[in-house]
Amino acid sequence: SIVVLGSTNMDLVVYVPRAPALGETVTGRSFRTVPGGKGANQAVAAARAGGEVAMIGAVGADGFGTQLRATLEHCAVDTDLLRTSEGPSGTAHVVVDDEGGNAIVVVPGANGTVTSLTHGDEALIGTADTLLLQLELPLSVVVEGAVTARRLGVRTVLTPAPTQALPPELLAATDLLVPNEHEAAALTGLTDPREAAQALLRDVPEVVVTLGAAGSLYAVRGAEPVAVPAPRVRAVDTTGAGDTFVGALAVALGEGRPAPEALAWAQTAAALSVRREGASTSMPYRVEIEAAFRS
Ligand code: ADP
Repeated sequence: SIVVLGSTNMDLVVYVPRAPALGETVTGRSFRTVPGGKGANQAVAAARAGGEVAMIGAVGADGFGTQLRATLEHCAVDTDLLRTSEGPSGTAHVVVDDEGGNAIVVVPGANGTVTSLTHGDEALIGTADTLLLQLELPLSVVVEGAVTARRLGVRTVLTPAPTQALPPELLAATDLLVPNEHEAAALTGLTDPREAAQALLRDVPEVVVTLGAAGSLYAVRGAEPVAVPAPRVRAVDTTGAGDTFVGALAVALGEGRPAPEALAWAQTAAALSVRREGASTSMPYRVEIEAAFRS
């Protein structure tokens, strides 16, 4: 099974002709709320891809928290260890203009209260084959989660987003690092993804650099990086593509598929998600992934 130690956020999205400058008021075209957060998105992606998934994190004691928890439960994600903390849920305030450009303010809220693991969290991690981690919870608990999983023999998969420097203890406890090309460049100072992947192999044994429509690059120590092309699709909305990819990848690896095949399967899932609008709402179900993968 898969455990996600990560964030839940309510995305509050406004669509405007153009974003306001400081001190200015503009009239928006529309508004919507979308359940998100990288942790919750990866949990939903993995559950829809057929994984047995549990989520460790926190929602706030507000209406958003109720909705965020319900969204996960609706996707059959186990939320027994998802805390409800005092105060507001995490929120992402997103302004999207007519050119598709965006400006985002993230307020961690409840996510910021997850500072350490409980005995129950540790026991749950010990039952899993894979722990999925991102960087939207306090770094202290991300490190603790990775170190705990490593000690218990559980595979750790880290999405290094949002970009920040990674402490050595975290890298030392990471089995598979999955940056996109921008994150890979930020972590290494190398803009060529092949070179960046090779450099990251000094710190972790396995790296996947995602390359958007170009697919991904798989690198393991002692071999040349392998490029895995993505299926060609008409992209409508690529938000959440990376999280869909990681969730599906965890499922495929957990089923014992060899890495290149697992990558191709995860890319099939991600490609299906970019053909539809939304992040978690656009994530494909296992039957859809299987059908597209075979064709
Ligand atoms: P992120 O969403 O984190 O920025 P990427 O943009 O690299 O990450 O996308 C992650 C994965 O999603 C890619 O490796 C690819 O498999 C898939 N993907 C993203 N955009 C497209 C696209 N336009 N067409 C097909 N697949 C895509």
